[in-house]
Amino acid sequence: MNPIPYGRQHITPEDIQAVTETLLSDYLTTGPKVAEFEEAFCQYIGCKYAVALANGTAALHLAALALGVKPGQKVITTPITFAASANCVRYCGGEVEFVDIDPDTFLIDLKKVRKLLESHPKGTYSGLIPVDLAGYPVNLEEARELADEFGLWILEDACHAPGGFFKDSKGVEARCGDSRYADAAIFSFHPVKHIASGEGGMITTNNEALYKELLVLRTHGITRDESIYHQENHGGWYHEMQILGYNYRLTDFQCALGLSQLKRADEGMIRRHEIARTYDQAFANTLVTRPFVEEGIGHAYHLYVIQVEDRKGLYDHLRANQIYAQVHYIPCHTHPYYQSLGWKWGDFPLAENYYHHCLSLPMYPSLTAEEQAFVIEKVLEFTEK
Ligand SMILES: *Cc1c(COP(=O)(O)O)cnc(C)c1O
Repeated sequence: MNPIPYGRQHITPEDIQAVTETLLSDYLTTGPKVAEFEEAFCQYIGCKYAVALANGTAALHLAALALGVKPGQKVITTPITFAASANCVRYCGGEVEFVDIDPDTFLIDLKKVRKLLESHPKGTYSGLIPVDLAGYPVNLEEARELADEFGLWILEDACHAPGGFFKDSKGVEARCGDSRYADAAIFSFHPVKHIASGEGGMITTNNEALYKELLVLRTHGITRDESIYHQENHGGWYHEMQILGYNYRLTDFQCALGLSQLKRADEGMIRRHEIARTYDQAFANTLVTRPFVEEGIGHAYHLYVIQVEDRKGLYDHLRANQIYAQVHYIPCHTHPYYQSLGWKWGDFPLAENYYHHCLSLPMYPSLTAEEQAFVIEKVLEFTEK
């Protein structure tokens, strides 16, 4: 048996063909594949605008900037996420406020967010970054009510959840990243995510002004739109750098790979659900706690996270069998950097308890039935001994 990672990309001959064609075309970057990928992604997600970026972290940074994070502003997020969800606030000089998780879904607990907001003067907090952890969609309708009541913007970190959805109070499927309730959402195309482009990211939104600002921020703050020039047009070469932006562009050959991968998104999601069902059945009536999924939730199953008593023991046992399960995540507030800002172990007991017991088992469309059976055998061999 080959080593089995927790997640990995799936590259087909069609993907290779698409990249090769783009490599031989006129544009390696800032060409037609960028807009093509953005349009196809909008279609898939169900939003109006999408901006392709160098990676998911760049997407978080630009979205935070465009939403107006300024030095001293406070933004709320969950401690159980990849550090980038919080770091983007720091890039803009803002302050991160963590709120503990819901013990069932492991997502940020919106009831606790409400308590926090109610116990501070209005205007203390400027935004909320909820994360669709493991592919479980945050109830953004509920988040929107809070946001409207307390004047917050919402940036959904949907890196784990392209294709996920929840049913809102009207029974409508609100898809992750569709910005029906959030102001914007971000995605990543890192190889372990649903859609791989090597490195890559995307911001989705329905807000035209935000979209236009993101386009300018993506490329140094430079615009070539004559209608908004501050000065007279000197000629064909003229452009203006109006704000301080970055080079966060995604190349055309990466967009070509993303486009090709996106065509298999539905197939991949079906396979992820099959894998989850197989794990669910195998771990019924065992000492392995399976992921909780509420009625009406369209789980995107980026990760299949179990909870076990002896997590380190199981992790080491799987590793000895070349099964590279992973831990998502070390609580953000316990990293030395965030401790240097005043957070400490003990601040979020539910997040920390989750961390001590969680383990992400292999979950990716090309995982074979034989490989999955081996993973299940090795998990149960340890937990049921
Ligand atoms: C992967 C990921 C990111 C960052 O994406 P990169 O493309 O690696 O920069 C941010 N947030 C979450 C939840 C992620 O899983």
